[in-house]
Amino acid sequence: MRIDIITCLPEILKGPLDQSILKRAIEKGKVEVCVHNLRDFADNKHKSVDDYAYGGKAGMVLMIEPIDKCIQTLKDNRAYDEVIYMSPDGKRFEQPMANELSLCKNIILLCGHYKGVDERVREHLITREISIGDYVLSGGEIAAAVVADSIIRLLPGVLSDESSALTDSFQDGMIAPPVYTRPAEYKGLKVPEVLLSGNEKLIEDWLADQAEQRTKKRRPELLD
Ligand code: SAH
Repeated sequence: MRIDIITCLPEILKGPLDQSILKRAIEKGKVEVCVHNLRDFADNKHKSVDDYAYGGKAGMVLMIEPIDKCIQTLKDNRAYDEVIYMSPDGKRFEQPMANELSLCKNIILLCGHYKGVDERVREHLITREISIGDYVLSGGEIAAAVVADSIIRLLPGVLSDESSALTDSFQDGMIAPPVYTRPAEYKGLKVPEVLLSGNEKLIEDWLADQAEQRTKKRRPELLD
């Protein structure tokens, strides 16, 4: 899979893509992530990609031209399943959407900034809009990192078998059971006996029961 991220602030994306699971996935070639600086597609001599909003209201708006040029350049080289604009009023991003997007071959994530992008971008250049929640961020970069992370960890060969994404919360409509590691006792706090028993059947049953109890308590609506 390939993920192209379009942004006017590529620096923000460096950290998240350069650590731990995502870094290894990229190094192992399980996914290709390319970050594109909108400024590289700005024609004017100041390389500016934003301008004042028409109508005299406060806040800058990302211009359509550099965004259009960047998307066209990418499309000239390959076909994209989706061109996605990160937006607080888009469809709420949840696990099923991550699962769906992880099956794509090529996607573009477009990050807005300031007041957002010129509405004509949203009307004509993109195929869907995704929000990571009902709050407003300064830019789409962190939202794009969230979406990219949740997709990449689902790709084959990215997680080891033991940490399979299938046993994580939300995959089977349940919250994941608790996890423990050594020591078996810390300041009198004990790991549940059953996990030390070595009895696979008992452990499986206990984990399933814990998942159910937790889901009932924390997220009962998932069971509906
Ligand atoms: N004026 C817009 C908010 C702009 S925030 C409004 O009121 O709806 C600047 C940029 O941050 C947006 O263009 C978008 O790309 C990104 N962004 C902010 N909040 C987001 C969220 N919850 N999910 C996804 N992207 C978000």
